[in-house]
Amino acid sequence: MKFDDFDIKEYIDLKATEYDYRLHNEFLRDIIDKFVDLNKELQNALETVTYMSITDPLTKIYNRAKFTEELTKFQEKKQDIYIIMLDIDHFKRVNDTYGHDSGDYVLKKLCELVNVSIKDDWIFARWGGEEFIIIAQGDEEEIISEAEIIRKRIMNFTFDKVGKITSSFGIASSKGIEEYEKVIKKADLALYDSKENGRNRITYNK
Ligand code: GH3
Ligand code: MG
Ligand code: MG
Repeated sequence: MKFDDFDIKEYIDLKATEYDYRLHNEFLRDIIDKFVDLNKELQNALETVTYMSITDPLTKIYNRAKFTEELTKFQEKKQDIYIIMLDIDHFKRVNDTYGHDSGDYVLKKLCELVNVSIKDDWIFARWGGEEFIIIAQGDEEEIISEAEIIRKRIMNFTFDKVGKITSSFGIASSKGIEEYEKVIKKADLALYDSKENGRNRITYNK
């Protein structure tokens, strides 16, 4: 018999029993289920990898890579932003006096305190060590007063074992600046002034 003459329907009707059909269907269903499970596993793995690639493992806030990516987006859209830099005062002493674990706890708790103030369209990230960075949007007064609220909230909080700590801030605006990396530098200089002028304060570098 040539292939063109071959009637598959007739062949199946002749040869396959209902039992064969059922087996065949179960087999196909089994394969589909396996694919669905595998797809779910891959999706979960992808979500985990994505989360890890943008998150600081200790504090669970954004890491520096994610921050830089977001900053680039603001720059491309030419959206006016403010950079707030926050550095814990004399943090080395916390580690030296109470141990590294207590230092880690302070970093995590501080992020919780800052997160209370972070608006939906702000980006809060760990810049490195005991330094944090925020991309803030809004008007100048609102941002400075929000930073002031954060500073006071940190100052007034009693950390387990460690007690009181303070933090210094540097703020800069992107107005008139094309490369947003420079806004970070400006905020960093402002932070340096806060440190020089006695810490536990905010400096705004216009
Ligand atoms: P300043 O007021 O001038 O900022 O002084 P400082 O002591 O805060 O600054 P310094 O740069 O001298 O010390 C920062 C310390 O932060 C030193 C480092 O061991 C500690 N540190 C950085 N990352 C971590 C971390 O992930 N966990 C802990 N526990 N400590 C960290
Ligand atoms: Mg410090
Ligand atoms: Mg520092």
